Amino acid sequence: MTPRATRVLVLNSGSSSLKYQLLDMADGSRLASGVVERIGEGPVADHTEALEAVAAELAGAGLGLDSPELAAIGHRVVHGGPRFTAPTLVDDAVLAEIERLVPLAPLHNPANLTGIRTALRLRPDLPQVAVFDTAFHTTMPEHAARYAIDTATADAHLIRRYGFHGTSHAYVSRKTAELLGKDPSEVNVIVLHLGNGASASAVEGGRCVETSMGLTPLEGLVMGTRSGDIDPAVTSHLHRVAGMSVAETDELLNKKSGLAGLCGDNDMREIQRRIDEGDERARLAFAVYIHRLKKYIGAYTAVLGRVDAVAFTAGVGENAAPVRAAAVAGLAGLGLSVDPERNTVRTGEPRVISPDGAPVVVAVVPTDEEWEIARGTFATVTATADSAASMDSAPAGAGESAGPID
Ligand code: ADP
Repeated sequence: MTPRATRVLVLNSGSSSLKYQLLDMADGSRLASGVVERIGEGPVADHTEALEAVAAELAGAGLGLDSPELAAIGHRVVHGGPRFTAPTLVDDAVLAEIERLVPLAPLHNPANLTGIRTALRLRPDLPQVAVFDTAFHTTMPEHAARYAIDTATADAHLIRRYGFHGTSHAYVSRKTAELLGKDPSEVNVIVLHLGNGASASAVEGGRCVETSMGLTPLEGLVMGTRSGDIDPAVTSHLHRVAGMSVAETDELLNKKSGLAGLCGDNDMREIQRRIDEGDERARLAFAVYIHRLKKYIGAYTAVLGRVDAVAFTAGVGENAAPVRAAAVAGLAGLGLSVDPERNTVRTGEPRVISPDGAPVVVAVVPTDEEWEIARGTFATVTATADSAASMDSAPAGAGESAGPID
């Protein structure tokens, strides 16, 4: 057998952008990365042209899509519905199922599908793997995934809590276990993914048991522009008293709410600057954000029973020391505190910010969703190759052990 191809191209196709990274799973190196923006608005007419441009750029660097070292393309797919519980090798049936889930993610899944179809056209022979934002959360017990609404209505329309940011929660919870020097199966972790979108998860022994986003990414924490938890009657109330349409309330809750709705800014850096200047609206926005975060830390402590670590990640979680300090302030009763000096250190590495000997480790663990997508993709194609090989030869190392280095 020829040496195994170990490179994975990760594609994240948004409605008007295409982000890519080329990773080598043999040594974890990042060989190329970039983004094509404003697809359909400028010189790049559509996703086909965008991917062709990426392919040309990679070829120029000697990393073309026809390289024998390329093992697979991994695609981020936002909504995997109830069926996709793991990274999945793409075939016609998988494409049809992702298409069927479009009503659950009307902005994201069509863009993701376009990316996959385009890549398939360029390299029909290369394995393509769909890696779902929802998959990590499919281990949630039924009592956490169910909304308390009429069961027949819920089931007819696939209404349940799915959760998102799954690749980040999976990666960060695993890295946190590593930081503690333990196997993921031995630790309970609360992961706080605080970016422009934000979500929390409770991970018990490596399995997600609860997460804050729901049917859509709107539920849960206060975000940059999303409200997070809100009485659902607000939408019908606004319809009755203000004549607002479904589209208008959707826009209100997803685009004009959260930090932006509260104070006009969704960037935590700007909010902190305004607070330092004594701005009252910014202070209140911050307080609402922190209050919600604290409630989730408390709730997930109750869900898990025993918490070994709380991990902060993503743009805000990794960079905003005041958010981390405020989120755990007053939670010593739950075993949570941060050391003020450790909290302000800045590195790209996972690090503990709680004092030595604290009952619960508080940590900053930078996320890497692209790496997690590449890892899932590579494990999938390796397992597929191994099971094909084992049909006619000696047993092969199964799945993950034969695959990625992480
Ligand atoms: P996305 O959800 O778009 O992937 P990110 O995880 O990149 O978001 O987070 C982006 C957010 O991180 C910004 O909107 C900003 O609020 C916050 N952020 C980035 N750097 C800092 C910083 N140094 N201090 C505070 N907040 C920051």
